[in-house]
Amino acid sequence: MTIAVAKLRVEDKLYQNRYLVDPGRPHIKVRPHQWPSTNLLALTRVCPAKCYELNEKGQVEITVDGCLECGTCRLLCEKSGDIEWNYPQGGFGVLFKFG
Ligand code: SF4
Repeated sequence: MTIAVAKLRVEDKLYQNRYLVDPGRPHIKVRPHQWPSTNLLALTRVCPAKCYELNEKGQVEITVDGCLECGTCRLLCEKSGDIEWNYPQGGFGVLFKFG
């Protein structure tokens, strides 16, 4: 007997979530810098929502739309001051769809 198993990618599951943008009030900010620290640079690879990117000057920028509030960047970079991390205010941010 063969059991059919549907393969679902993580990206497909994440697509089910919704995100409510709080215009002009990003809940995570990157400290202005000339060159990123090693940990700050790592965020361009480890953020599951791909919120961090390098700009043309080699500095790390964030677009919080789509942030999953997983806390990975907070663990890596808040203590050093590379980023300032807060939860979005009530009613904004990610809305997870379960199931
Ligand atoms: S909390 Fe998670 S998803 Fe949000 S920006 Fe940080 S690493 Fe990315």
